[in-house]
Amino acid sequence: MDPVDSILVVDDDPTQIAILTAYFSSMQVAEILHARDGAHALEILDRHPKPVGLIVSDLKMPNMDGYELIRLLKSRGFKGRIALFSGHQKELIENAANLARMYGLDVIGHISKPLTKSSLDKVFGSRKSSEAGRANADGTWPLKEDVSAALDKGLFVPFYQPKVDLLTGSISGAEALVRWIDPERGVVSPGLFLPIATNSGLMGRLTIAIVECVIEDMQRPEWAGMKIAINIPPGMLSDITLPDIFMNRIGKAGLKTSQFCLEITESTVLDLDPATLEVLSRLRIHGFEISIDDFGTGASNISNLRMFPFNELKIDQSFINNVLTDAFSAETVNASVSLARMMNMRVVAEGIERKEVFDYVKAKGVHQAQGYLIAKPMPADQITEYFSHPHSWMRSIAAA
Ligand code: C2E
Ligand code: MG
Ligand code: MG
Repeated sequence: MDPVDSILVVDDDPTQIAILTAYFSSMQVAEILHARDGAHALEILDRHPKPVGLIVSDLKMPNMDGYELIRLLKSRGFKGRIALFSGHQKELIENAANLARMYGLDVIGHISKPLTKSSLDKVFGSRKSSEAGRANADGTWPLKEDVSAALDKGLFVPFYQPKVDLLTGSISGAEALVRWIDPERGVVSPGLFLPIATNSGLMGRLTIAIVECVIEDMQRPEWAGMKIAINIPPGMLSDITLPDIFMNRIGKAGLKTSQFCLEITESTVLDLDPATLEVLSRLRIHGFEISIDDFGTGASNISNLRMFPFNELKIDQSFINNVLTDAFSAETVNASVSLARMMNMRVVAEGIERKEVFDYVKAKGVHQAQGYLIAKPMPADQITEYFSHPHSWMRSIAAA
């Protein structure tokens, strides 16, 4: 989990509160607040001087239960993250989590009681990544000023994760994923600085910095014919000058817009306002591909998708990872493939870590695959090497 300063635990059972408090204290969370039910939680949120970063709530509580709390958090525009737990059957907790996501809340997971260290680690544990760049023990790094200074110094660069075409078996391109190369801390993952960049209005600068690096990297001859995906944050898409900014830079570099695929999250698709739709339409008509990232986590429906001719749908990794063990995930993958086929979109499975999952999605008709099984995100020099041997990824699969 990305670090947060304050967590609000909502439950009427003192034992669960004690377990969660001990757990979060061991993660050096600066402030752990307690509420006995939903109404008490809202009171605390109202009084608290700073926004609370994470709410961990039981579903069944006296007075105001978790469902009502979810609805009221949505109407108050709560911007933090939410995790839900319950002693009731798994499907009920999943259903509550889905409901919260439909309300546009940022649900990071759900847990069945009894709460154990391993079940909590699955939702709140640190990322498995071997990359450096965790927050300091006091959780204060990076600050807005650090991110801004790093932008000035050009310390944000893209790493690239290859995408494999399952029909031809060759590498079709890569996704650019921002990393902060800090002289002292090493490679810092986006989970640590994107929330700060977002809250401080720095995402525009960061995106342009990444686009510029990608354009430069794409000049190398080995990159010819490779399609590069770039993540575009929601806020930028309502800026009607964006298509011209991108096209100018790409045109000057002698590249074609069709070499770029712009990934927007499913939540952006849900709030398609006229300005965003205009920007997307102009980008598309000028040759950019547009992809819906993290598909399945939002609540888009066919009518949302028909508003715009998207090129690609990327099924969220949470479904891909569970596709062999969880019927709901498997159904989500199947439904996504059918929907994409019906709408003439390419389907990408992201986050593939196991060979069995790779075989599964291939058999289901997914077009492209991406994940640690094939390769982790890597620096530009390394992927240049990778692009020169378009079938080299098969060795990592064979060794898995
Ligand atoms: P995303 O766009 O959905 O990217 C996929 C994330 O999953 C990446 O994390 C990638 O490293 C990770 N991943 C890929 N394969 C596997 C796998 O097999 N297993 C697991 N566990 N993870 C895998 P990363 O690089 O930490 O990025 C996280 C998110 O941050 C991205 O999710 C994207 O939403 C955002 N992001 C990254 N770079 C940029 C950027 O340049 N601009 C913007 N706006 N957002 C970015
Ligand atoms: Mg992406
Ligand atoms: Mg994704």
